[in-house]
Amino acid sequence: MEAVFAGYEQRLAALKSSTNPFAGGIAWVEGELVPLAEARIPLMDQGFLRSDLTYDVPAIWDGRFFRLDDHLDRLEKSCAKLRLRSPLDREAVRATLCEMAARSGIRDAFVCLIVTRGLKAVRGNRPADLVNNLYMFLSPYVWVVPPEMQRTGAPAIVTRTVRRTPPGAFDPTVKNLQWGDFTRGLLEAQDRDAIYPILPDGDGNITEGAGYNIVLVKDGVLHTPERGVLEGVTRKTVMEIAAARGIEVRLEHVPVDLAYHCDELFFCTTAAGVMPVTTLDGRPVGGGQVGPVTRQIWEAYWDLHYDPQLSFPIDYH
Ligand code: PLP
Repeated sequence: MEAVFAGYEQRLAALKSSTNPFAGGIAWVEGELVPLAEARIPLMDQGFLRSDLTYDVPAIWDGRFFRLDDHLDRLEKSCAKLRLRSPLDREAVRATLCEMAARSGIRDAFVCLIVTRGLKAVRGNRPADLVNNLYMFLSPYVWVVPPEMQRTGAPAIVTRTVRRTPPGAFDPTVKNLQWGDFTRGLLEAQDRDAIYPILPDGDGNITEGAGYNIVLVKDGVLHTPERGVLEGVTRKTVMEIAAARGIEVRLEHVPVDLAYHCDELFFCTTAAGVMPVTTLDGRPVGGGQVGPVTRQIWEAYWDLHYDPQLSFPIDYH
């Protein structure tokens, strides 16, 4: 853990002392590159007015894009489900993102691509006749659970006042910004002296949280929800790591009750990786410390960022 964080902190210090106007983030809006803080979207964009959009978030770590094609595959599938089309093709997106990284000098980045319906609504219009918009930005890496908290584990709750939007209302495999349920969960977590909500499905199972998938470890087996969740790229990586180590993974309905009786619990997302959780509803998870299985997967996850099959270096010119 410490080596990963030390390398990152050094790169972050270099970024903070940079005089590059894009060092705080860079956005691509209507073909123009602008500093992230100055980026604006048109008020009439249906993405803003109706959340009629999909998005994806790959990351750059230590100057290498990690699993970019997995994220672009998912974005394309999400667009197809919502009948959206990115105005830029995949090659142009790849090239533009790499250029943005090079121009900004950011070596650890949170990368966001948003495809919106554009300026006209679906009502009364055929989707094929509408011009969709694409927005892209890179910011310095975002930590859903910050490094110092990853060392000891994060505090979570299972929410009581809100459940996850059911798949019949919005397909959670389409990455979306309809965050009403997650925002309620985040507020409830604060009210209950925690930070991270786990949303149940209303039928006694857990789903996911505000920007992360959930994995429980019980008797050496990983359990993670098979439905009602985004199919996370980080979770996919976790499942591959587990398979390579002979750790069994069960993709299944995961009862809320198991969360209270598991040995280890962690979240996973592109914006922070594998995030240990050590308290649930104010009580310790397992022994109340980051567990051995979580630690092993954590280490393997960051190592994989240098695997040429999963990542490629960006040319910073
Ligand atoms: N679940 C939700 C609701 C998310 O928003 C995210 C990522 O933002 C995830 C899970 C994790 O997905 P990934 O590992 O692909 O970043």
